[in-house]
Amino acid sequence: MFPSFSLRYARLPARLRVDCLPTPVTEPRLVAFNRELAEELGFDVEAFDAERAAEVFAGNAVPEGAEPLAMAYAGHQFGNFVPQLGDGRALLLGEVVDRRGRLRDLQLKGSGRTPFSRGGDGRAPLGPVLREYLVSEAMHAMGIPTTRALAAVTTGERVFRRIPEPGAVLTRVAASHLRVGTFQYFAARRDTEAVQLLADEAIDRHYPDLPGELAEVEAGERYLALLEAVVGRQAELVARWMGIGFIHGVMNTDNTSISGETIDYGPCAFMDAYDPRTVFSSIDERGRYAYLNQPVIAQWNLARFAETLLPLIDDDSDRAIARATSVIEAFTERFDSCWQAVLRAKLGLATREEGDGALAQDLLDAMQAGKADFTLAFRRLADALDGPEGEARLAALFDGHEALAAWLPRWRERLAREDVDEAEIARRLRGTNPAVIPRNHRVEQALAAAAEEDDFAPFEALLAVITRPFEEPAGEVDYTRPPHDSEKVLRTFCGT
Ligand code: AMP
Ligand code: MG
Ligand code: MG
Repeated sequence: MFPSFSLRYARLPARLRVDCLPTPVTEPRLVAFNRELAEELGFDVEAFDAERAAEVFAGNAVPEGAEPLAMAYAGHQFGNFVPQLGDGRALLLGEVVDRRGRLRDLQLKGSGRTPFSRGGDGRAPLGPVLREYLVSEAMHAMGIPTTRALAAVTTGERVFRRIPEPGAVLTRVAASHLRVGTFQYFAARRDTEAVQLLADEAIDRHYPDLPGELAEVEAGERYLALLEAVVGRQAELVARWMGIGFIHGVMNTDNTSISGETIDYGPCAFMDAYDPRTVFSSIDERGRYAYLNQPVIAQWNLARFAETLLPLIDDDSDRAIARATSVIEAFTERFDSCWQAVLRAKLGLATREEGDGALAQDLLDAMQAGKADFTLAFRRLADALDGPEGEARLAALFDGHEALAAWLPRWRERLAREDVDEAEIARRLRGTNPAVIPRNHRVEQALAAAAEEDDFAPFEALLAVITRPFEEPAGEVDYTRPPHDSEKVLRTFCGT
């Protein structure tokens, strides 16, 4: 059933990892399986056997050819450096080559203790496993780079957090699990050779088009180019998050991936009413990872990445710092240009004009003042082009209509300078601004039904609509609407 493993990370020097087996669970049961992704990864889905799959995705049986290992990494958590974190409850099984020739990591999360577990139990509760499943698949469906969810199993065992919960294991698929924190682990130990191996691995896997091998260009250029490439991907990623109202919640350096994928869905959440100061995570007391702070934090995390590369960039440390600093400083402009592109697309603009940024900002300001729902306000821009009824549906989202009423004619005047008609613009808008996102209250409802009542129907129904985010969902439950006051999720928990 499994495709063959290529074991790249396992072939790197032993100090980059600890070989480690998953801890078997008593009663593995497959509760979610991503058939489409499995096919993409080269699984023999026809030969699929749910019982065998449950064994493998629970870690009770190691698939042939896999060599499970825990990766070493460090990280800045909420700004404080922790020299050793590592996979405390996850194991890399190995890499597979997917049907498009791309190397993908397969990782079990919640598979038992490892030498990096510290005081933790190495396990994951069902709720957070299903949240990661839902949100990562929704992100993918919205075209945002992300790790994927291949399978979820329940273990038949309880894990003890705030309350006892059913245990679960998630099988996560990533372009790689190289993080800023992976580099920091070795840089903190002055192991420049390991940092260089990791940098070469990152270039090979994620940035193969960078200036060529050491012989062709000065080595320092190559690693500076890596930094620049990672800066570019993170700038784009965070702009894309913000375009759908996503708040990651724990942008620690160990949760910042070198490939530019979204990784680690802990207390993440989506904004309902637009407010750039929004924070959900219960552990983010000072709002470090608030919606609007995300670009600044990404830049800070990238500066930590740059520090690890300094010895590779130039033998002269002052020169290395100067070169790396200018790349990190350029993040601001990179982010801004990505963010402006995201906003233009959200307004239905394919051409670029001087005043577009201000036009977008004025709409955001009107949304904030009018407490309008972020997702629906953008979604209903297309409705406003259909006629007065559609315009009323948009206006209904705002407390007080003056700001919007003043804004709409400016927008239509701008649209008139696009070289397509409004019907085409409406079509564009509906392909850019999602109708459904994994709203926090719907996610919570689905998780509660699964964890408390062993009822996976709400999870499956939600998954089905959020993986078609640009379609208006049919059916009894209205997945598009914001929460009623009684349903509002004010705080999210790591739930690790
Ligand atoms: P996270 O907050 O998910 O980014 O995890 C931070 C660190 O804590 C990582 O090293 C994890 O492997 C570790 N960790 C989180 N939960 C557990 C757990 N239940 N058992 C062991 N280690 C854990
Ligand atoms: Mg993490
Ligand atoms: Mg986590």
